[in-house]
Amino acid sequence: MSGADNVRVKVNPEACMGIGQCEMLEPDVFIVDDEGMAHVVEGSVVTNERALELIDRCPSGAISIDGNSVDDPADDPADNSADDASDAAG
Ligand code: SF4
Repeated sequence: MSGADNVRVKVNPEACMGIGQCEMLEPDVFIVDDEGMAHVVEGSVVTNERALELIDRCPSGAISIDGNSVDDPADDPADNSADDASDAAG
């Protein structure tokens, strides 16, 4: 084990407000498109610590960790952690 625990992150499209904070912090991981929607670059990973920071910095709470550590081959896309966009303003 290498110590650094890398994870994938994902963006909840219903919560994202396209502010671009994520893209500013991690331009290799996030891209905000013309419609103001952030996307995660396919295959990109960040350390678990960085992921928590990104989650904390997203003003709309749209970012979350996607599944478990990428070291785990049992990548289960059915893992839907309920990301309620209840109070996210458009
Ligand atoms: S920081 Fe959050 S709200 Fe802003 S573009 Fe990224 S995911 Fe969307």
